[in-house]
Amino acid sequence: MAEPVYRRVVVKLSGEYLAGSHGYGIDQPTVDRIATDLIAAQKQGTEIAVVVGGGNIVRGVEVSARGVSRPTGDTMGMLATVMNCLALEAALERKGAPARALSAFVMPEICELFTRAATHKYLAEGRIVLLGGGTGNPFFTTDTTAVLRAAEIDAKAVLKATNVDGVYSADPKKDPSARRFDRLSHAQAVEGGYKVMDATAFALARETSLPIIVFSIAEPGSIGAILRGQGRGTIVAG
Ligand code: UDP
Repeated sequence: MAEPVYRRVVVKLSGEYLAGSHGYGIDQPTVDRIATDLIAAQKQGTEIAVVVGGGNIVRGVEVSARGVSRPTGDTMGMLATVMNCLALEAALERKGAPARALSAFVMPEICELFTRAATHKYLAEGRIVLLGGGTGNPFFTTDTTAVLRAAEIDAKAVLKATNVDGVYSADPKKDPSARRFDRLSHAQAVEGGYKVMDATAFALARETSLPIIVFSIAEPGSIGAILRGQGRGTIVAG
């Protein structure tokens, strides 16, 4: 991989990963480990905003398959992302790292509303900012949210943390001939239909010329390694 040294990034964390080996809910040791990784990565000199998913608690599509309307299911999913942000915020602060959760929804008793100004202010203060509530709109994903927020707050890249070490031509767990890409253009990522990130997110990244780095978070310290240009992943850019 080339040397991606960025002043400000958005890290996208899947909710699923926060469940650890349980497959559901919030696994505290996993949240604590990710908090440690984020703190170490920030100490390298990069401002970090985190967009957290909610798949460990609720996915709108799954809820709507049980008879709830899709917008309501998606709203439940977006609220789940806020819960994950609060868990991460608490873990970061317990470790002595100032953090701040911001939500796409007005919920003043719980956390402040996401605005660009608030995000700039808290990042400049040296806080790790957790962005909850997705885009605030149904029918979107937190992958798309990560790209949208990155473009809004002038982040220089999206670091998409997953269970695999990059974008593959097919699912490497199912297809032994699956090939890993070191680099893809935005157009190739959109056209390839790769499952690791949704096409809307790739399309918005192309539109806003934002690099996306897809990497595995399973290895402790991987966020910092990617920011030092030493990690293994796929760069989607250009
Ligand atoms: N969601 C939504 N709009 C958004 C972001 C998320 O409606 O802008 C809902 C959607 O129902 C989704 C859920 O929130 O299933 C959790 O987000 P996501 O599936 O992206 O989480 P992840 O897969 O990263 O855990």
